[in-house]
Amino acid sequence: MNILVINCGSSSLKYQLINSKSEEVLAKGLCERIGINGGAIIHQPADGEKIRWEKDMPDHTAAVKLMIESLMDEQTGVIHSLEEIDAVGHRIVHGGEKFSSSVLITDEVQREVEECCDLAPLHNPANLIGIRSCKEVMPNVPMVGVFDTAFHQTMPKKAYMYGLPYEYYEKHKVRRYGFHGTSHDFVSARAAQILGKDRKDLKIIVCHLGNGASVSAVKNGESVDTSMGLTPLEGLIMGTRSGDMDPAIISFISKKEQISAEEVIDICNKKSGVLGLSGGLSSDFRDLAESAEAGNESAKIALDTYAYRVGKYIGAYAAAMNGVDAIVFTAGAGENNSQVRQLIGQYIGFLGTNIDEEKNKLRGQEVILSNEGSKVVTMIVPTDEEMAIARETERLV
Ligand code: ADP
Repeated sequence: MNILVINCGSSSLKYQLINSKSEEVLAKGLCERIGINGGAIIHQPADGEKIRWEKDMPDHTAAVKLMIESLMDEQTGVIHSLEEIDAVGHRIVHGGEKFSSSVLITDEVQREVEECCDLAPLHNPANLIGIRSCKEVMPNVPMVGVFDTAFHQTMPKKAYMYGLPYEYYEKHKVRRYGFHGTSHDFVSARAAQILGKDRKDLKIIVCHLGNGASVSAVKNGESVDTSMGLTPLEGLIMGTRSGDMDPAIISFISKKEQISAEEVIDICNKKSGVLGLSGGLSSDFRDLAESAEAGNESAKIALDTYAYRVGKYIGAYAAAMNGVDAIVFTAGAGENNSQVRQLIGQYIGFLGTNIDEEKNKLRGQEVILSNEGSKVVTMIVPTDEEMAIARETERLV
C-alpha cells in the first residue's frame, strides 16, 4: 500500500509517500510560502536528487496539486497515476477529549476537528485546510486523521486537571492534553522492542527534545503524564517557548512593559526558551553547544537551565510511576546533541542510569547509553512521526 502522509501548516505542507509494506519512503517534500509570494516546492525522490521548483501557490489546493504533479513527474516522480496512492494520513494537532485514537476521516470527524479549533487556533484550522484540499484533489482516496493529543488521552484525571475552578473544565474543557503523542507512542514501543520486553511490563520516560519539547511517563504501554498542557507552551524550556512559569508573570510583564496579555503570551511562545535565556543568541542547540564550548556564559546558562528542567521532569515522572525502567531520548536535540544529554545525565544518575561517556558521543541512531547491568536503561531511539502516521493509516484503511 502506498500511503501519503501530510503535515499541513498555515503556509506550508510537508509530505512523504511511504510504501507501508516495505516501510520505504518513496519520496518526500515540502511546499512553502503557500498563499504568499515567493512560493516553492522542494521535492526529493528516494533515489534521486532533491529539486527546488519556484512556483507561487495561491492556496493549499494549489500546493496539493503541485505535490501530486511532482510525485507523478517524468523526472522526479515515483508513481504514474493517482490510483497508486491508496490512502492519505493527516497529522492533526488537537483532538480534544473526543479523539483517543486515529480515525477514518468522515464529514462528521471534520466537524468534530473543527470544534477543537479553539484549543489549537494556530494548528487545527491549517490541518483542516489540508484535509479539504486533499479531498478536493483526491476525492476517492480514503483519509485518516492521526492526532498529536490522542496517545495522552489515557492520562488519569489527577494528571490532567489544573488546580482551577472545576467549572472551567466543564464549560471550556480547560485541562492538560499533551502533544507529540505520535512520537511518544512510537518511541516507547520501539524502546520496549529493543529491550526485548513487552511495553505492558515497563515504566518508560520519553524525552522528546526538538524545537518543541516534551517529556512523557509511559506506564504499562499507556501515557500517564506528559509535560505539555492545554497548549504546547507548558512544561520544558524549549527552543523559543518558556515552558512552566508563574502565571502571575503575564499580568506583571504586561503592566511593566505596557503590552497586552496576548503580546506577553506571544513572547512566551516565540522569544523565550533557550533563545530568550541566551540573550537572543540562538534557539538552535547546535549553536548553543558550540558557543558554550567556546566559553560563552549566556549559552552555558541557557543549556544548564534547560537541562535542569528536563532532569526535574524525569525525577517527577519516576515518582509518578513509582519507578522507571528506561529513559529514552529522541527528536533533534535528544538524538543528536551529546552535550545536552550529558548535562541532563548529571541530574538522573541517582536513579542508577550509569551513562557511558563514550556511548553518549554517538548520535542519530538506536543505542543503549547505559553501561551493562545499570538499574535504569538510558537510550536513544530516533523518532519517525511520518512512519507512525503511515502505520496508523494502513491499520485503519
Ligand atoms: P522540530 O521537529 O520540533 O522542529 P527537531 O526535532 O528537528 O525539531 O529538533 C531541532 C533541534 O535539534 C535543534 O535545536 C537542533 O539544534 C537540534 N539538532 C538537530 N540536528 C542536530 C545535530 N546534528 N547536532 C546537534 N543538535 C542537532
